[in-house]
Amino acid sequence: MSQNTSGFNTRFVHAGQEFEPHTGAVVPPVHFSTTYAQEGIGKLRNGYEYGRGTNPTRDSLQVQLAAAEGGTHAFSFSSGLAGEDSMIRALLRPGDHIVLGNDAYGGSFRLIDRVLGPWGIGNTPVDMSDDTALAAAIEKNNAKMVWLETPSNPLMKIVDIARVAELTHAHGALLVVDNTFASPFLQQPLALGADVVVHSTTKYIGGHSDVIGGAIIVKDDDLAEKIGFLQFAVGAVSGPLDAFLTTRGLKTLGVRMRAHQENAAQVAQWLRGRKEVDAVLYPGFEDHPGHEIAKKQMSGFGGMVSVQFTGGAAVARQVAESTRLFQLAESLGGIESLMNYPSEMTHASVKGTELEVPDNLLRLSVGIEDVQDLIGDLEQAFAKL
Ligand code: PLP
Repeated sequence: MSQNTSGFNTRFVHAGQEFEPHTGAVVPPVHFSTTYAQEGIGKLRNGYEYGRGTNPTRDSLQVQLAAAEGGTHAFSFSSGLAGEDSMIRALLRPGDHIVLGNDAYGGSFRLIDRVLGPWGIGNTPVDMSDDTALAAAIEKNNAKMVWLETPSNPLMKIVDIARVAELTHAHGALLVVDNTFASPFLQQPLALGADVVVHSTTKYIGGHSDVIGGAIIVKDDDLAEKIGFLQFAVGAVSGPLDAFLTTRGLKTLGVRMRAHQENAAQVAQWLRGRKEVDAVLYPGFEDHPGHEIAKKQMSGFGGMVSVQFTGGAAVARQVAESTRLFQLAESLGGIESLMNYPSEMTHASVKGTELEVPDNLLRLSVGIEDVQDLIGDLEQAFAKL
């Protein structure tokens, strides 16, 4: 079976998941061994030498991730940010420059600005939907990398990946797309021209809020060699149990995403009708500025909804602290619904910068519970206002 030409769900379930030949076990075992017995000095069994470099459980996840994103190589890391760090250091050098969206995830910006900045990597945040500003920022800084998140976290802005890829490549730079919010089920950035796909697999790919992880996926041998070297040389790899849990999550990505987005569409619609609500940021609405692009480059609108309140921060905080099923917690993409107040939680680190998130905004990660229960939960929270 050619895994990259099969349907998504077939790839998610089967890629890298061949049965174990010794017993026929349909679920490949989790390999905890840190080292591998050699047949003679330097005579490795199937290339296995030491767990930081290779581990069969991590390998099978990496095959599955590459197939899921239509890439040729995937690298699994201990967190999304660990993957981003290794990938950037693999592909850039001190003196190089990154142009990134001015609504990028706060943790990615903190890494790029406050960790990699002092090591000599510059950055310029821009509005990614403004071609002129993007081109000017790339040219002025001779940028080597453009960093795009779409839908963005938490403002749910949508940017045309194919258009940004064309513009980026015209300037000789690499396009990195963080595909965490959409997941490979809904969006395939490599097919749209991106060079590198980044995931926090902690989110929709793992899907159960029980494992932190990250992935980098590419379709080019040269990029793969550089990233693979840093994965091995730095060693921020995922452990065997983490890799197994992530693999198990990815197998059900398709069915979960369908349930997430059906619920999100109804929650967004309900929120839109409330007098306390100033704006609902959800690309499924026809009047969302990115709706047509989302329709073109995504196969659905995802499970995330952000909402802004007319009554400001006080009302947003009160709702966040009044829901029962929507748990007040960081993160997203798990089967359970979560509510996040970005300006004090996930995006607190970008306060006072260009990436600051409005303080009247809540971000909802809509889970797969029965939607009438989720709406009932919001109703009781709004009734307290
Ligand atoms: N990218 C996005 C869009 C995220 O939301 C996150 C985490 O929230 C990350 C990257 C970082 O991933 P991790 O928390 O697994 O390091």
